[in-house]
Amino acid sequence: MSDLLTQDEYEAIARDLTLPTTAFVNGRFSAAKGGKTFETVNPATGATIAEIAACEAEDVDLAVTKAREAFEQGVWSRMHPVERKHALIRLVKLIKRNRYELAVMESVESGKPIHDCATIDLPETQHCLEWHAEATDKLYDQVTPSGDDALGLVVREPMGVVGCVVPWNFPLMMVAWKIGPALAAGNSVVVKPAEQTSMTALRLAELALEAGIPAGVLNVVPGMGETAGQALGRHPGVDMISFTGSTEVGRMFLKYSAESNLKKIVLECGGKNPCVVLDDAENLDAVAEHVAYSVFWNMGQNCSSNSRLIVHKKIKDELLSKVLAKARDWRTGYPLDPSNNLGAIVSREQFDKIVHYIDLGKKEGALVALGGEPIENGGGLYIAPTVFDGVTPEMTIARDEIFGPVLSVMTVGSVDEAVDLANDTQYGLQASVFTSNVKRAHRVARAIQAGTVTVNCYGEGDMTTPFGGYKLSGFGGRDNSLMAHDQYCETKTIWIDLSDDPVDQAVD
Ligand code: NAP
Ligand code: MG
Repeated sequence: MSDLLTQDEYEAIARDLTLPTTAFVNGRFSAAKGGKTFETVNPATGATIAEIAACEAEDVDLAVTKAREAFEQGVWSRMHPVERKHALIRLVKLIKRNRYELAVMESVESGKPIHDCATIDLPETQHCLEWHAEATDKLYDQVTPSGDDALGLVVREPMGVVGCVVPWNFPLMMVAWKIGPALAAGNSVVVKPAEQTSMTALRLAELALEAGIPAGVLNVVPGMGETAGQALGRHPGVDMISFTGSTEVGRMFLKYSAESNLKKIVLECGGKNPCVVLDDAENLDAVAEHVAYSVFWNMGQNCSSNSRLIVHKKIKDELLSKVLAKARDWRTGYPLDPSNNLGAIVSREQFDKIVHYIDLGKKEGALVALGGEPIENGGGLYIAPTVFDGVTPEMTIARDEIFGPVLSVMTVGSVDEAVDLANDTQYGLQASVFTSNVKRAHRVARAIQAGTVTVNCYGEGDMTTPFGGYKLSGFGGRDNSLMAHDQYCETKTIWIDLSDDPVDQAVD
């Protein structure tokens, strides 16, 4: 909180921003070869901020070629781990020095409240990169139990060129989650940011060069998913894609891989996450606070948003009234006003999608307990916290990921019913359970099919724990924790013969 500036100060920073608008390849900014650009818009005003280079296959090919050259030269991949760590820590310091500028850039391009950019996204980005940097010179490989005649080693080696394709909801943080472990492991990286939010990724790459991460090691190719994203996914010189976004697009990367070079694919996709509140939950005021935060934070544009509240009928009325009271405290409005908790919805497309789901909720018979009306103000598109009561499992708003500040409240009569309903989804990213009974908590946490389950809290995850999903929420790996380091590495087995008479050894 103490790091917050005033709205006037943020607006002054916004006016003075130097906007990165072209691709960052091999340590230089350059326009797309085809000369094409696309607009990036401030969703809080509707104004065009800048024209961004629209990279296509030939730009992606150049970035991958330069990334490969850097990798083969060993300027980063074979740099001493201590030196790699130092360079990444210098990057963290540069991000910190430029945090106001980066927070404002992120807010004006995405509509996210500056409060969150300044107090969550920027500090978390730094922490993530620092955590992975620190791991660089502390990870050991393995010596196998191979006896006196041979030495067996199992070693990690960087994959090579890693493509990172990221969404717009946490533009900087998602890049950090990917490049932190990928760079720490010694890979070269090509990032394709979401088309709505290219600028902070570009600025980060510029800062990385300044920090001493060699040219060609971190490249950013802004552009459309269908062109730049697809070109990266299909490129034969890319060894791995790490993707965060929708399940629909995630599937495409599996296809691109199958039809090209069988590159490794790791997907973090959507969620329709349940928050289960049992009848013995303690302190419903605290529960209501978690419920509201988990669904309204970042305007609900959060893959681990708890958009389904599954509550025991005995406590439903009391909990709902407390949730509504908390929700009313969430201020929606101009993102550069640091007192607002919800900013603008990222794009007209996303806004229309949320409004469509709200209309469907009403049509299918759910009851609007709060909100439900879109707000268009000063060219910006806003949706205030919306709560639907009386939602039944077959309703569309109980099944589809809305990716907006919309809560669906469903009632159950038993623990088993709550678990069945929690699992009645194609997704499995995250879940929460509230109960005062530790046995029940553990039983429910194990029974829910999700990559993360939080008990009597929401969002306690940090860099130390893996993050990813079951079912359609993910594929092939996890972000964060040391598991992330391993997934950006190949595993190599090395056998060294130590016997005095190698031929005898072989015959035996
Ligand atoms: P998206 O449409 O899937 O886009 C994600 C990325 O893929 C963007 O960079 C996008 O580029 C690119 N892309 C789109 N179409 C492509 C194609 N045909 N080939 C290759 N790349 C393509 O998702 P989004 O709209 O940015 O974000 C919302 C979704 O992300 C939600 O479903 C949410 O749940 C999920 N998400 C998941 C997590 C997680 O950790 N599990 C975190 C955040 C978000 P364009 O921008 O040009 O379309
Ligand atoms: Mg998209």
